[in-house]
Amino acid sequence: MSDKKKRKQGMLENVMRQFNNAADIMELNPNIRKILSITNNEIVVHFPVKMDDGNVEIFTGYRVQHNNSLGPYKGGLRYHPTVDIDAARALAMWMTWKTSLAGLPYGGAKGGIQLDPLKYSQSELERITRRFTYALGTNIGPEFDIPAPDVNTNPQIMAWILDTFMSTKAPSDRSANMHVVTGKPIGTGGSEGRDRATGFGVFLNIKFWAAHNQVNLKGKKFIVQGFGNVGYWASYFMQEEGALMVGVQDAYGSLANKEGISVTDLFAHSRTNRGSILGYTKANEINKEDFFALDCDICIPSALGNQITLKNVGGIKAKLIAEGANGPTDVEAERILLDREIEIIPDILCNSGGVICSYFEWLQNRNGEIWTLDEVLEKLQRKLFDSFNRVLKTAQEYKVDLRTSAFIIAIKRLEDTYVQRGVFP
Ligand code: GLU
Repeated sequence: MSDKKKRKQGMLENVMRQFNNAADIMELNPNIRKILSITNNEIVVHFPVKMDDGNVEIFTGYRVQHNNSLGPYKGGLRYHPTVDIDAARALAMWMTWKTSLAGLPYGGAKGGIQLDPLKYSQSELERITRRFTYALGTNIGPEFDIPAPDVNTNPQIMAWILDTFMSTKAPSDRSANMHVVTGKPIGTGGSEGRDRATGFGVFLNIKFWAAHNQVNLKGKKFIVQGFGNVGYWASYFMQEEGALMVGVQDAYGSLANKEGISVTDLFAHSRTNRGSILGYTKANEINKEDFFALDCDICIPSALGNQITLKNVGGIKAKLIAEGANGPTDVEAERILLDREIEIIPDILCNSGGVICSYFEWLQNRNGEIWTLDEVLEKLQRKLFDSFNRVLKTAQEYKVDLRTSAFIIAIKRLEDTYVQRGVFP
């Protein structure tokens, strides 16, 4: 086997294969395929930050802007050792498909810093974030490119980005606006509901799927990979609905309990344990490799990309995979899942509640409005229900799986605008 074949399939390869597969089926205009296959802008910045001990460390940050033909670039910033240019490219492309599918006036971007946040103090993380924002300069902006939280970033980090962006502009600069970033704390221009929006959206998609397939979620067993913002809230709403969390995995370890694990109790434990689920005594610790093979009905990968692969796909017992993460299932594994008639609610639909709520936050800031939690969740539910139904309908029309259908809808909207606008000059 050649080295290339042996190499673990990367996220970029994964998203390109998903894109090309849909483009073939819908017979995408070849010129537009060329345009959508590449990223518009790629910003890589190296910047120094003073550490608590007085030494200086150099960091590398990324912002990849894939496409903005439907509106300003939009997408999260992730702080993780796996962040590199290819990861940012792949994640930026997924954002373009996600915002297009949701019918938002946005394009797609993604970025972050290659680091392990656990290695740094709060004040170091603040200085790293502020210096990164400064380094990005005018490459982000409220009407140009709007970051948001992603893996290991949170409302506090968004508040630092906002404050740095505003503070480094002249006081009279009209481009210094709050909607430069979403996912902010509520007291700092954030929206009600943004905290739970992604996980709630994952849950709603599962609920729509269950209703469509006449499945009752009460008593159904689920496992969740990742117990951060997305995994926690998705599990929380599943539990509220009467489903049972029987397995959970985070970066530190894996837990299982056939009788069920209390989502709220485990969350309280992880809060006092530096965010880790380890050491929780009301579940058994299991081997990392055995996690996806746990007996369950629904599997909710909500951590990183390329988690369900040829290595573990054979053991999967779930009937439904609901992708809270971006790109958790690689193309080869997906083929096997579909052959076994295991359905996948694809990431660009399943976790789109986050960016939809970001759009609501951006709109509120822009219009000087403050919506209630009920208003936000109600609007979110309506939007997601509409996306879900369009994906079902297109899947039937083209006789394709849900991911291919979601991609076809997303790409079609982009194709239409390119046909209407033409290519300058
Ligand atoms: N990082 C989230 C995502 O992958 C949210 C992006 C946003 O709200 O802009 O969809």
